[in-house]
Amino acid sequence: MTNAKFDFDLFVIGAGSGGVRAARMAAANHGQRVAVAEDRYLGGTCVNVGCVPKKLFVYGAHYSEDFEDAAAYGWNLKQAPDFAWATLRDNKTREITRLNGIYRDLLLNAGVTLIEGRARLVDEHRVEVAGEQFSAERILIATGAWPHVPEFPGAEHVVTSNEIFYLETFPQRVLIVGGGYIAVEFAGIFNGLGARTSILYRRNPFLRGFDLDVRQFVAEQVARKGVDLRFDTVVDRVEKRTDGTLTACLESGEKLTADLILYATGRWANTRGLDLDAAGIDTREDGSIPVNDFFQTCVPSVYALGDVIGGLELTPVALAQAMALVRHLYAGDQNRLDYSAIPTAVFCQPNIATVGPTEEQARKQYSGLRIYKSSFRSMKHTMTGRRERTLMKLIVDDETDRVVAAHM
Ligand code: FAD
Ligand code: NDP
Repeated sequence: MTNAKFDFDLFVIGAGSGGVRAARMAAANHGQRVAVAEDRYLGGTCVNVGCVPKKLFVYGAHYSEDFEDAAAYGWNLKQAPDFAWATLRDNKTREITRLNGIYRDLLLNAGVTLIEGRARLVDEHRVEVAGEQFSAERILIATGAWPHVPEFPGAEHVVTSNEIFYLETFPQRVLIVGGGYIAVEFAGIFNGLGARTSILYRRNPFLRGFDLDVRQFVAEQVARKGVDLRFDTVVDRVEKRTDGTLTACLESGEKLTADLILYATGRWANTRGLDLDAAGIDTREDGSIPVNDFFQTCVPSVYALGDVIGGLELTPVALAQAMALVRHLYAGDQNRLDYSAIPTAVFCQPNIATVGPTEEQARKQYSGLRIYKSSFRSMKHTMTGRRERTLMKLIVDDETDRVVAAHM
């Protein structure tokens, strides 16, 4: 049933992972009149400055080792290969442009009205985009998150993951601040592409929240590949020199020189300029929007999902939330989303794949556990001589013999 009192049944703000999925499903599967407002890029973070271009860069970075390893398999590269950053960057951008077109077609073919421009809330049923107002029975906020850089002297000289995909020139010396997904993934990318790369992280070891064995193992492997790991390291300020290079002045007094400093210090909810107050929507201190189990904000006609609500910031999570919301609103589904065992991959080198609790968490949940661990050199490297190793760890509930977690 659609409600003729409003211009649309559902007005989605943000055409990223969650917004596009909700809009398409509501329109194509449930016959709703749906609009999506997008002010920057179709497909959102994942397609434009996230998962997709990141993965393409990871593929690019792997070649340096592959060229070296090829010799053991009989391949004789007649001359040393060299790397052209502009080729990788521009081919990547061409692919993203192709995907933007696919996202546009997906929305239009589903019957969604696409409105280009920055949206803000007027009240609990009205949205304004580029001076024009639209009414909707329900509004969905799916505006994602934005890189957060802490305040410190010289913060204006550093870049975030937003800029990293479009660098004019390839940096020879890179400092990466942070110890989460983006820091370790980009350390692998820059190191693989030939930059001297350091990770500066305030604790020890990085990837807090992952299983400790995995964190320690990955730290060892990443260091072995040549990344300079500096744990328990805090940056006080950044200075720009007259030749354009940067100096990171550490709390310890040490100074590090770099061509590029990447801050990968988390992402905060993107609610800037949305005028949430106009509709009476609460936010947490970090800007994220609290919602109930069915993604409803404190205002009954306004919903929110994806990165903007905080929690696990992953594309499959935003997609699952979008599908759960549409099923709830338009098919009466009362099932709550189960967040208990979400698999995740970190595309550092070597990669991490994991599902289920860490050993430390599992020890609190189960009275008896059996831990199976195996570390070995993969068959490929028996010929190449590379010292890279693989770790696999299974956590089994002793009482039921059920595997409760796998970390690789
Ligand atoms: P987004 O995809 O960010 O979409 C929000 C959209 O809203 C954007 O297009 C934005 O322009 C638009 N918008 C914002 N405000 C307004 C407004 N006022 N008006 C109109 N439009 C607006 N996740 C994975 O699962 N796997 C990965 O490998 C992975 N890699 C990542 C790598 C990087 C470098 C980054 C930064 C993120 C990565 N992520 C990955 C996370 C993933 O990209 C996000 O979790 C996902 O995109 C969240 O989807 P979303 O719909 O909540 O928001
Ligand atoms: P994360 O939350 O993963 O990591 C942030 C890192 O920055 C942490 O190590 C944190 O340290 C550190 N940090 C936070 N604030 C400061 C500060 N003021 N000074 C110094 N260090 C600080 O965020 P990312 O930016 O790496 O990525 C954002 C999110 O995007 C990820 O959490 C993930 O959900 C998603 N993503 C997913 C990917 C995938 O699925 N493969 C890839 C890339 C991103 P501490 O540990 O001490 O808090």
